[in-house]
Amino acid sequence: MPGLYVHVPFCLQKCAYCAFYSVPLADVHGVGTVKDYFEGLAAEIRLRQQDTPFGVSSLFIGGGTPTVLAPEGLERLLKMLVSGFSGDAGLVSGLEENAIGSGGSLGWERQRAVRFEDIEATSEANPGTITPEKLRILRQYGIHRISLGAQSFSDQLLREIGRIHNAEAIREAVRLIRLGGFSNLNLDLMFGLPGQDMKTWQESIEEALRLGPEHLSLYALSLEAGTPLAKRYPLGQGKTSSRMPHLPDDDEQADMYEWAVECLVRAGYIHYEVSNFALPGKECRHNLEIWRGRDYLGLGPGAVSTLGGVRWRNLENVAVYGQCLRNGELPLTEVEHLSERERMTERLMLGLRLSEGVSLEGFKQEFGQDLRDIYKDVLETYLQQKLLSIEENHLRLNPQYIFTANAILQAFG
Ligand code: SF4
Repeated sequence: MPGLYVHVPFCLQKCAYCAFYSVPLADVHGVGTVKDYFEGLAAEIRLRQQDTPFGVSSLFIGGGTPTVLAPEGLERLLKMLVSGFSGDAGLVSGLEENAIGSGGSLGWERQRAVRFEDIEATSEANPGTITPEKLRILRQYGIHRISLGAQSFSDQLLREIGRIHNAEAIREAVRLIRLGGFSNLNLDLMFGLPGQDMKTWQESIEEALRLGPEHLSLYALSLEAGTPLAKRYPLGQGKTSSRMPHLPDDDEQADMYEWAVECLVRAGYIHYEVSNFALPGKECRHNLEIWRGRDYLGLGPGAVSTLGGVRWRNLENVAVYGQCLRNGELPLTEVEHLSERERMTERLMLGLRLSEGVSLEGFKQEFGQDLRDIYKDVLETYLQQKLLSIEENHLRLNPQYIFTANAILQAFG
């Protein structure tokens, strides 16, 4: 069964470094755009149900900022998802008739209670957009994991990258999330920010640890073409004019990363993927399975899907997305039929991001060939240089080189 990703393409405002598809609310004209989104999504769910005949194995609602939706919007979204992906395998509790008291007056109202159960169901959220009511709705429909975009605990750095929140808003968000009954929380943090040094980075990590998240994701800032931050730093990282806050270069980023890895591992987190750390048993199963090669269906404008060797991306325009789907057409922009060789390479590149590595046996079962034969030359070089190792029948990246993994992995392409 594939995992399900749902993209909510709205944010309060655009962050200075962001290249994801999302529309700042100031650019959402009237209710038209939100209407386009919901109408499009309802039609896309209908058209895509055939792709998930047995339901879905995980749900991840991302964005954008899902919690920027009003409570009614959030509830509408969740209702659509639970009724659209109930499947036959009982992964969702099913459409049970539940008697819910209508205030003790004239009998009972019959109401359908549906929620995601037994699968990992995550929603992204951002500080400053969370309310007790929205959290109650998320819980009501079975969302039990929140991924919070904290990014930094320095108010100055948060301002520098155009976030809407400050450190106090993160603490308040975590307080509300815990009060709302969520016992599985991820915090996203970024390093290599303009003006960030080792000390402010360490303070952010320590502050995050004090909040006791079950999971942490650490991302290095990268300058994405066309973003305000890339325009502010045309010379790139490490080459800052004296009037601008210093933008850490690759070496400084690597030092920050290494310090954080040591600190989090000492605090009991398992470093299970290049950027991801979890308390035992709290790994993000949705992403973990994708890195292991499981299919996923993406819904919403800009979402990517990979199913049965075919990859496609939806159009990054919410109005056109809605219009296409209202006309009964899928809003596809790129469709790629992956060759077997491409699928093998991708399996390696994703699997090597994981500390568990790539199972030689699993690879052989899936593709009928030994990866040591297919990638003989690259492997010989990298095994000799000790960038990679084979232990317990798994091919693994040497943890020492994990921060530079991307450059190493490209050699398999
Ligand atoms: S909140 Fe996230 S998706 Fe929205 S603009 Fe900022 S980085 Fe991009």
